[in-house]
Amino acid sequence: MTSHQRLSRIEFRRTPVNAPAQVRVCVRLRPSVGTGQGQDAPCVRGVDSHSLEILNWRNEMETMKYQFDAFYSEAATQNDVYMGSVQPILRHLLEGQNASILAYGPTGAGKTHTMLGSREHPGVIPRAVWDVLQMTRDASGEEWKYSVSMSYLEIYQEKVLDLLQPSLRDLPIREDRNHQILVPGLTQKEITSFSDFESHFLPASSNRTMASTHLNQRSSRSHAVLLIRVGQTQGWPPYARRAAKLCLIDLAGSEDNRRTGNKGLRLKESGAINTSLFVLSKVVDALNQGLPRVPYRDSKLTRLLQDSLGGSAHSLIIANIAPEKRYYFNTLTSLNFAAKSKQVVNKPFTQETLPEIESKRPSADFSDAGPAAKRPCPEEEQPSVVEEKSLSTVLPLENLDPAVVERLLRLEALEKEHAGSGSHVLPLLNTPRRERLGILKLLDETRRELKTLKEKQQEMEAKALQEKDRALAPRVLAKPRKQAAVLPLQQVQPVGETQGEEEGIVVIKQKKGGRKRKATSLNSENEAPPEWEVEVRPDLLTRSKENILALLNSGSVKDLMALRRIGKKKAQLIVAWRNLYGSFKEVEDLGKVHGISAKQVSSFLKANILEHIGNLQ
Ligand code: ADP
Ligand code: MG
Repeated sequence: MTSHQRLSRIEFRRTPVNAPAQVRVCVRLRPSVGTGQGQDAPCVRGVDSHSLEILNWRNEMETMKYQFDAFYSEAATQNDVYMGSVQPILRHLLEGQNASILAYGPTGAGKTHTMLGSREHPGVIPRAVWDVLQMTRDASGEEWKYSVSMSYLEIYQEKVLDLLQPSLRDLPIREDRNHQILVPGLTQKEITSFSDFESHFLPASSNRTMASTHLNQRSSRSHAVLLIRVGQTQGWPPYARRAAKLCLIDLAGSEDNRRTGNKGLRLKESGAINTSLFVLSKVVDALNQGLPRVPYRDSKLTRLLQDSLGGSAHSLIIANIAPEKRYYFNTLTSLNFAAKSKQVVNKPFTQETLPEIESKRPSADFSDAGPAAKRPCPEEEQPSVVEEKSLSTVLPLENLDPAVVERLLRLEALEKEHAGSGSHVLPLLNTPRRERLGILKLLDETRRELKTLKEKQQEMEAKALQEKDRALAPRVLAKPRKQAAVLPLQQVQPVGETQGEEEGIVVIKQKKGGRKRKATSLNSENEAPPEWEVEVRPDLLTRSKENILALLNSGSVKDLMALRRIGKKKAQLIVAWRNLYGSFKEVEDLGKVHGISAKQVSSFLKANILEHIGNLQ
């Protein structure tokens, strides 16, 4: 078996180069054509290398100014655009990260010129392919070996067509478990030289669905996507493998049907193109606003671009615009789209394959254990296994801190809610994976806690019955076991009136002078069983108070709000007091804050100390 054969699964590994990458947006203004008069008169002009201005249609005496990562004027050459905005992105391919270049704009504004160009003025596609081949050749060495392959597809009327094998129409678009977009069945050709590339690309380009409209003799009515895959294999163990994808996209323009005289099929084509571009704009909006649902699936184009916008790719949008007045509203739409895209932040990450032989994992599922677990993706970390802890004592609910009881009741309600739905998983399927795992873990803990509590209660009742004839109640709780875990935040260790062992967090003691309850039917004598009180182990109490004090003295409003019983208003009061009077000497000083009563301080301490002690363990 060769090392290559042993590599079959793809892992995604976050690398230190994972800083969020902004979607870069540049605008290219094509030279003016026509008479320069009337509708051919210019309405846009460049200001500097980053900005341009366009007439305000409401008031021709005014202009509106737009600023982008780069602005390329009529005089800019293909080389200027490529070197200025495209080439800097390509190096990320060698790091195993995706990159996408997207030409957007109305028909006739120069998208195909920019992406493809001509023999005399080659555009982004030939230049990028040339450089990728060169870069991978230069970088190939003993450590990493690179390979380059290409696919070429077209989206025409919401169908994916394979341009390298035109008989393959309406291919599906899928997302793999690592959120990479795939087109199963799409032809992929390995290329080792530029002439290799041309031998596949040129005939495929003629397969593109072209149709003439009144606007543009070579107007492409489809979205063309060239995929260049850069594979990378490590030359020695562990023979890691990376894969990166470069998407070069020449979008079809959005047509104004009244203007192009489109009818019948042409009108239908325009509708489909407009839908895709409309969804593209909605996707950008959703990403900008951080909406939970991004409508990638609403069109083939956006589904395919899912990992190019707001996903894992370094993305560049080249908005092509025309200077003539006849394009005015299309230009405005393009500029507004480009301005929106500017705010999208991508999070690139490196794709890396680990050798199957090392991983010993039957499937590539993230949740499996295996080598990946050694270096988990932080956002996909699995919850730690909840340990089953032994029971050792009784814990009457009425003796618990009200805050703890409140928490249990909340957990119980949550438990019931999900038990009622018949499944813990289904209602949660729509939540992000990490939250889902968190909730499931919480539910699991809750179930254990409730079970434990019920058992304890039963145990206590039984013991209380047994003890009714005995004079000294502490023996009810005799024979403490090593460790007790009843609540996530508390470990309970029962003892008699004397000091208990050190491992427990709280000590349950018979309450001195506790109120006597009336005899129940279970208790034939006049005295009810003695009451118990919870006492926190002094050393842990001190540490817990120190922690809370540190938080009170250094926490921001947001940090303070993480404390129980502290809302925004109280957190602000605490910070304001601190600014005026300096640090708190002890947690009880909280009572000095105007607006926080002694009673509130006491309930604050009760609620937080146990919680913090839980965290100390
Ligand atoms: P689109 O693909 O957006 O419909 P094209 O790329 O086909 O537009 O451009 C329309 C026409 O304008 C073509 O004849 C093209 O050669 C020309 N053109 C576009 N941009 C430029 C440019 N920057 N310099 C020179 N000619 C250009
Ligand atoms: Mg075109």
